[in-house]
Amino acid sequence: MIDFHVHQPRGNAYDAEAFVASMDALGVVLSVVFTYEGLLRPSPEANDSLAAWVGAAPERLVAFATVDPRDPHAAAEIERCVHVHGMCGVKLHPWLQGFSAHEPGLDLVCEAAASLRIPVLFHDGTPPFSTPLQLAALAERHPGTTVVLGHGGLHDLWREAAAAVLKTENVHLCMCATPGYAMRALVARCPLERLLFGTDAGLRPEPRQRYVALRVRQLDELGLDQRQRNAILTANPRRLLGDD
Ligand SMILES: [Zn+2]
Repeated sequence: MIDFHVHQPRGNAYDAEAFVASMDALGVVLSVVFTYEGLLRPSPEANDSLAAWVGAAPERLVAFATVDPRDPHAAAEIERCVHVHGMCGVKLHPWLQGFSAHEPGLDLVCEAAASLRIPVLFHDGTPPFSTPLQLAALAERHPGTTVVLGHGGLHDLWREAAAAVLKTENVHLCMCATPGYAMRALVARCPLERLLFGTDAGLRPEPRQRYVALRVRQLDELGLDQRQRNAILTANPRRLLGDD
């Protein structure tokens, strides 16, 4: 299983080795890790800190960079993170970072990501700035950029997230903190090749987080068949990470 939505713990409350042990207990072979503190204060230092944290277990952890899309150096910082740190994508949080999906700087971020062939994953599901159809509109302006809805619309907007996936081919959806009934409906409605799964591990200061195990159990309770599990948990994430 590949977990496509994990955070570096705030203040590096635990190290990568301890986290990898908790991945082993849940059957997670690879985690896609984002900063958390850097979402509050995007900076090259936050990206460097994330790179150092995942660097302790590079075969099990990959990192996504973050930037402030209003920063004129945002595209250059994404390129640096890919070329210097080997990062595999970009994570943005329009709600915490306080920008709308129509911010002009996002065009430069999307163009940089398309030319580097990396995905841009957005927090979604919390208005006013992170609604799935706002992000789908951005994706439509950038058909060469892979856009990921990082939370599948959460409780309130999962129907809208399904609509975003169905109307826009380059939109993918990570089921993460999406309620079980919504995950079931999303699997039934959305093209299988555009679904992913994540736990949002890293929001608590201990490496084994109870809610993470609960989310894996919720996934298991969907009763997915082998073809669905392979697509959502292995083939799709590997394709987005560029290693298929
Ligand atoms: Zn998250």
